[in-house]
Amino acid sequence: MTAVHVEYPCSPAAAAEALLWAKQRGGQTLVVGGGTLTVAMLAQGTLNPTHIVDLGRANLDGIDVSSNLLSIGSTVSYQKLIISPEIAKLLPLLHRMASGITGGIQIRNQGTLGGAACAARPFSDAPAVLVALGAQMRLISHRGTRLVPARDFFQRAETTALAADEILLDMGFPLHKLAGRSSGYQKLKFAESSWPVVTAACLVAPGRLDVQAAVEITIGGVGDTPLSVNLSNVSPDELDHDVIVRAVDEAVSNLPPDRRWSDIRAGTEYRAQVAGDIAFRAFVQTQESKRK
Ligand SMILES: Cc1cc2nc3c(=O)[nH]c(=O)nc-3n(C[C@H](O)[C@H](O)[C@H](O)COP(=O)(O)OP(=O)(O)OC[C@H]3O[C@@H](n4cnc5c(N)ncnc54)[C@H](O)[C@@H]3O)c2cc1C
Repeated sequence: MTAVHVEYPCSPAAAAEALLWAKQRGGQTLVVGGGTLTVAMLAQGTLNPTHIVDLGRANLDGIDVSSNLLSIGSTVSYQKLIISPEIAKLLPLLHRMASGITGGIQIRNQGTLGGAACAARPFSDAPAVLVALGAQMRLISHRGTRLVPARDFFQRAETTALAADEILLDMGFPLHKLAGRSSGYQKLKFAESSWPVVTAACLVAPGRLDVQAAVEITIGGVGDTPLSVNLSNVSPDELDHDVIVRAVDEAVSNLPPDRRWSDIRAGTEYRAQVAGDIAFRAFVQTQESKRK
C-alpha cells in the first residue's frame, strides 16, 4: 500500500502551488471539490492518486456581483446557488437548473457547480447551462490565470480545457448580455431521482426598435459536449413546435457520429428523437416566464 499525500490549501494560489509541488514529484494528482464523485471513486479503487488537493478550505465558495459580472467560485454548492437571492434574480436559468439536481439534500449541499463542470459528463445538467449563459471559466495554475469560454472548456466527454496543473477558480457570467432575457430549462429523465437523458436551456433576448428578438437554445445529452441550435434568423413570434424541432434535428444531424452521446439510459437515436420536443418545452417556458 502506498501513502497518499493530502493537501488542504487555504487559498486558490496555495492550491496552484500544491498542484505544482505534486507535479514536480510525479505520480497521479487528484483535485477534490465537494467530493461527491471523487470520494466514491476513491472508495471503489477506480482512482488511485498519489497526491490529493482538497479545495474544501481554499476560499472558492463565494458568489460575487459587480456591475457587469456575476462570479461563482468553483466550490459553490448547488444548495448555495438555490438559496442565493442574486442567483434567483440575475441568473434564473441557473437557479432552475440547480433546483432540479437529484440526490437529495446531501448532494445539493456537497456537490459543486465547479465539480460538475470539471467532471464534464455529457449527461449532467451543468455543461449546457454554462454554455447557454456564456460563462467564462477562470483557471488558475502557478503560471497565473486564464479565461476560457464555457463553449471551449467542454472539449469531449469527461475532457475539459484544464491542464493537469490547473484548477477551475470561478465562473463569470456577463450580466450586461443576459439582462432582460427570459429563460427556460427543461429536461427529460426516466425517474424522479435519475440523471437527465436530454436537457434544453433556452434564452430569449427581447427585441428593440432596430434589433430583432433572438432565441438561443443549447441542448445537453445529445452530443459529447453541449450543442447550440441556431435560431437567430427566426423571430420568436414565428417559432412553433415544428420550426424548433426542425432546427434541432438539423443541428443534431450535423454532429459527426463519433460526437453523438449514448449511455445506459438511452442510445443516440432516442436522444435525437426527443431533443426537439424538450427544446420546444424550454422555449414555451421562456414565453410563460415573460408573461409573469
Ligand atoms: C446521488 C447523486 C445524484 C446526482 N444527480 C445529479 C443530477 O440530477 N444532475 C446532474 O447534473 N448531476 C447529478 N449528480 C452529479 C453532481 O452534480 C456531481 O456529483 C457534483 O456536482 C460534482 O461536484 P463535486 O464538487 O462533488 O465534484 P468532485 O467529486 O469533487 O470532483 C468531480 C471532478 O471534478 C474535478 N474537480 C472538482 N473541482 C475542481 C476544480 N475546482 N478544479 C479542477 N478540477 C476540479 C475533480 O478532480 C473530479 O475529476 C448527482 C450525483 C450523485 C452522487
